[in-house]
Amino acid sequence: MEVATDLEAWRAAASAARAAGRTVGLVPTMGALHAGHDSLVRAAQRAGDFVVLTVFVNPRQFNDPADLRAYPRDAAADRARAAALGVDLLVEPPLSQMWPADPAPTATTVHVAGLTDGLEGAGRPGHFDGVASVVTKLLVVTGPGRAYFGEKDFQQLAMVRQMVADLGFAVAIEACPIVREPDGLALSSRNVRLSAAARPRALGLSRALAAAAGAPAPASALRARMRAVLEESGVEVAYAEVVDPRTLRPSDDTESGLRRALVAARVDGVRLIDNGPVLITEA
Ligand code: AMP
Repeated sequence: MEVATDLEAWRAAASAARAAGRTVGLVPTMGALHAGHDSLVRAAQRAGDFVVLTVFVNPRQFNDPADLRAYPRDAAADRARAAALGVDLLVEPPLSQMWPADPAPTATTVHVAGLTDGLEGAGRPGHFDGVASVVTKLLVVTGPGRAYFGEKDFQQLAMVRQMVADLGFAVAIEACPIVREPDGLALSSRNVRLSAAARPRALGLSRALAAAAGAPAPASALRARMRAVLEESGVEVAYAEVVDPRTLRPSDDTESGLRRALVAARVDGVRLIDNGPVLITEA
C-alpha cells in the first residue's frame, strides 16, 4: 500500500494508476475506520478499481468545535486497517494543503441548495457546505471514475449526486448499504464515544426505523411511531422524518409508496443518525 501525505504525491499516484489503464475508485472517510468503511473499500475492489482511501477529519464540516475536538482519531490503526484491506493508495491530506491559510487563504465554498436545507442541514448550519467543498476537492485531486458513499449518510449521498450532476464531474457515485452491529446499531466512528450505559439507549434509532418499516401507514403516523420509540428509549430526538428519497421533501398524508425514514438523536451527548426504507399509505 502506498501512503500519500502530500497533495502532489496523491495527485501523481492517482494519475499514474489512470495512465496504467486502471479506473480509480475513491473512498472518502474521516478515519476511525470500521466495518462500514471496509464495505465501501470492498465494493471498490469488487469493481476492479485502484482504491484510493482518504482519511481527513474536515474541520469545515463541523459546526460545533467541541464535536470536532472529540471526533475519534487513530492514524496508526487506520493505516493498519487500510493495509490489511488491500487499499492501493491511502491518502492523509494535510490540513495546510486542503484548506490553506497562507499565502492564499481558502475562499471557495461549494453550496448545494435545496437538498441541504432540512434534516442534518437544519440542525448543523454550514455542515453540508463543508462536505460539498471537501468532496469537490477530493474528486478534483483524485480524478476517480467511481466514488463510494454509504447510505448511512443518506442526505449527504443525495447532495453529492446532485452536485456531481450539476457540476459535470465524470464520476459514477456508488451507494453502499448501511452496515450494522448484530443488534441493529448502525456502525459509526462516533459509537466509540458511547458509554456502556448509553449504548443500549442508542438502539432506539434502529428500533424506531424497524417500527416504521414494520407496517405501512400514513407518513404522519410513521413519524409519531418513530418519535414514540425514540422517546421511550431515552434519547434526545433531533428529528424523525419521512421523506421522498430523491428530493428529501417531507411526505404528506395524501401520498403513498416507498419513502425514506430518517432519524437523528443525541445519546449521552453523542449525536447519531440512521435511516431506512418505509412504505407509506394514503390517510
Ligand atoms: P465518515 O468517516 O463517517 O465520514 O464516513 C465515510 C463514508 O463511510 C461515508 O460515505 C459514510 O456514509 C460511510 N459509512 C459510515 N458508516 C457507515 C455504515 N455503518 N455503513 C455503510 N457506510 C458507512
